[in-house]
Amino acid sequence: MSFSPVIIIVAVLFVVIVVAVLAFMRRTSGSSPAVGGPTPAPAAPSTRDRLFFLRFEGSDDESYVGDLIARHGGATTSAEAIREMALDLVRAAPTATHVHVGPASEAPGGPSVARSGLPGGIIAGFRVVSTRALGTVADDADLAAIVKELRAVAGFTGRDVQRAELVRANADVEANAPPLVAVRVETRPGHQQCAYCRHSFPAHDTRCPGCGARVGQ
Ligand SMILES: [Zn+2]
Repeated sequence: MSFSPVIIIVAVLFVVIVVAVLAFMRRTSGSSPAVGGPTPAPAAPSTRDRLFFLRFEGSDDESYVGDLIARHGGATTSAEAIREMALDLVRAAPTATHVHVGPASEAPGGPSVARSGLPGGIIAGFRVVSTRALGTVADDADLAAIVKELRAVAGFTGRDVQRAELVRANADVEANAPPLVAVRVETRPGHQQCAYCRHSFPAHDTRCPGCGARVGQ
């Protein structure tokens, strides 16, 4: 008994088609969660809801920041008010001593309690909830990066921002929040670094306090 070549070819084709159909069905069922794939995944809430803590010390800075919070502090949904808050913080920020910026989810106590065991000083807590993801600050000690984020908030329109809160935060070494970190002085806006000894000091100084070198000559 023998099969004609045509029957063999048809049989082989049938088997190939069945295997292909089964493989296709398995793949589509396996990837069914991706059926809704075209809709983009929602941005992580933590990146839209962020907390800034900036600590200041010294009587001038403390009264300046205290006045600033008294003037523009509180909770608001007004884009204009949020812009004023952010601009105030941009102006004050260059003399901040300790800072933290991160997702609000990491600090359940909100902007009113910062983790710090430092005595004295004043801490501004600023929470901003935006409608789109905010940039990240990879290194809290980089004050220039934090000021850049605050400037970005100051540029938000009503479409970008939902609400914000600016308050004076209490320092609590046990607070359920990431600790404030010391600012690296050379990252402060308005500072320069000595070309000879790499010491960092205010831009208006004409002589390096580290090595005594004259600046700009
Ligand atoms: Zn120097």
